[in-house]
Amino acid sequence: MLLSALDWHPQPRLEPLHLDWLAHAGVEVAVLRLDRIDSLISGNKWFKLLHHLHAAHVAGAQGIISLGGAYSNHLHALAAAGQRFGFPTVGLLRGHPRETPTVLDLKAFGMTLHWLGYEGYRRRHDADFWTPWQAQYPQLWPIPEGGSGLPGAQGCMSWETSVRDQSAGLGWSDYHGWWLACGTGTSLAGLVLAEAGRRPVHGVLAVPENHGVKQQVESIMEEAGLGNPLYELIDGSRGGFARVDEGLTTFIETTAQIELEPLYTGKALMLLKARVEAGQFAVGTRLIFVHTGGLQGRRGLH
Ligand SMILES: *Cc1c(COP(=O)(O)O)cnc(C)c1O
Repeated sequence: MLLSALDWHPQPRLEPLHLDWLAHAGVEVAVLRLDRIDSLISGNKWFKLLHHLHAAHVAGAQGIISLGGAYSNHLHALAAAGQRFGFPTVGLLRGHPRETPTVLDLKAFGMTLHWLGYEGYRRRHDADFWTPWQAQYPQLWPIPEGGSGLPGAQGCMSWETSVRDQSAGLGWSDYHGWWLACGTGTSLAGLVLAEAGRRPVHGVLAVPENHGVKQQVESIMEEAGLGNPLYELIDGSRGGFARVDEGLTTFIETTAQIELEPLYTGKALMLLKARVEAGQFAVGTRLIFVHTGGLQGRRGLH
């Protein structure tokens, strides 16, 4: 049932991160472990789903239909939630049938899959894209790719509360800002809304700069009516989405204190290191790094 999913409010833990390059610069980082909220439902994607699931429930829908690729963290979290809470899920996939570890999980979780090809998947932004799917699955509620939009962002606002509740436990009286990886910018937008101009949110783009992330963030700000958003988008894609090079691989391997994947969290922390080493943060700066998850997606990448 969708309703029982709405009752689940996992609390991500806030943990100190001890790394040489932080200690040398006198910068403190605490990690909000979204990757550890559950054994199967992991990362920022659960939070981005929450308000969409609420809208689906209010509309009287029985389950969810959504889309993603063959390594999608979004579909993985959705399918796992469907199995856990007992609501049907349908996934529309990019490309042609293949069996990645993620796809095998989706099937095991009971998600019904349709492969759209590449051309068919590109049509997902067309005005009439959902019409045939809603005819085929009238009882299911469509959620955009990745759980984006204002409802997606609203689900991420609770991270600010989680940090507020736990920062004293680290001996922190306050902190100076946030650092996280961005795909669509929805998660960043949620934090910007929650901070409402108090502390800056630094987002490291996992996609090239021409992917319209800034426009998406701005449109969420506009819809929410926030006039003074305090954030920064930094290109950290290293040449493209899912582009992996040796420098990145080495960084992830040598940063054994925390498990990272190469698409989002690895690139985000690596860019933070570059900024810290360039002296861009004053001694005593305290930052929250959001571990947005994605560890399931790295299986079979190499
Ligand atoms: C989807 C994803 C992101 C990007 O989140 P957005 O809200 O789209 O910016 C970041 N990290 C991981 C691990 C993800 O799976």
